[in-house]
Amino acid sequence: MKKLIIVTGMIILASCGTIRNTTVPQAETQDQLILATLWYQQSAEMKALYYQCYRNAETALEENLAGSDKSKPAAVVLDIDETVLDNSPYQGWQVIENKPFSDQDWRRWVDLAEAKPLPGAVEFTRYADSLGVEVFYISNRTVGEMGPTLANLRAYGFADVDSTHLLLKETGSSKIERRERLESIYEVLVLIGDNLADHSGIYEKRDAGLGFAAVEADKNLFGTRYIVLPNPMYGTWLNELMKQGEGATAREKLVKMLKGF
Ligand SMILES: [Mg+2]
Repeated sequence: MKKLIIVTGMIILASCGTIRNTTVPQAETQDQLILATLWYQQSAEMKALYYQCYRNAETALEENLAGSDKSKPAAVVLDIDETVLDNSPYQGWQVIENKPFSDQDWRRWVDLAEAKPLPGAVEFTRYADSLGVEVFYISNRTVGEMGPTLANLRAYGFADVDSTHLLLKETGSSKIERRERLESIYEVLVLIGDNLADHSGIYEKRDAGLGFAAVEADKNLFGTRYIVLPNPMYGTWLNELMKQGEGATAREKLVKMLKGF
């Protein structure tokens, strides 16, 4: 029985927005998260990169607003997790407690409403608001998590924090329909997120080429319309690697995907 549980244990690898069901043995540690989480929490480079990205976002917003024909009201779209709120304590907890991702544990973290704002995020939303640009948050937090998410964002003074400006997950994780709904009314000038699926539906499913070709095709959009923030801890990029990787453990799969010399 015990063996059966170890072999068939179904866990979800990491947290937040995107789907990441991956079969790995339950006995496995979460050590693959250590270095990425430490970088996110303890490197000055991470803080500097967020400031750099949000500064770039302001410039892009100014330029796109100046170039707009103003036929529709202007908006910006931001993801929430690892874009405006820092949930890395949840990843840290996973390593310390040796726990795979679970919806229940994630919900306990969300209910605390204690996620800190990421560097430059509050200021960006307030700047957009000062320009008369509406701020929308398209997130795969669920509609059931609306209350604590609003409380968390409000506590730090983010702009436009109300249930009409938070487009949370109702059924599927795809953000395409929610973006299209918004774009039928607003001109979306800038999209900001830590996962490329926050910017375009083309990145929701990665092919064997891991989305590299799509990035190449979109290269002129980065820094001008799409602002991408760093998240080495989890994301669609990692889900795809885990799907493609071969091996009995997460570590084995990941090591096999490394390029060496
Ligand atoms: Mg995110």
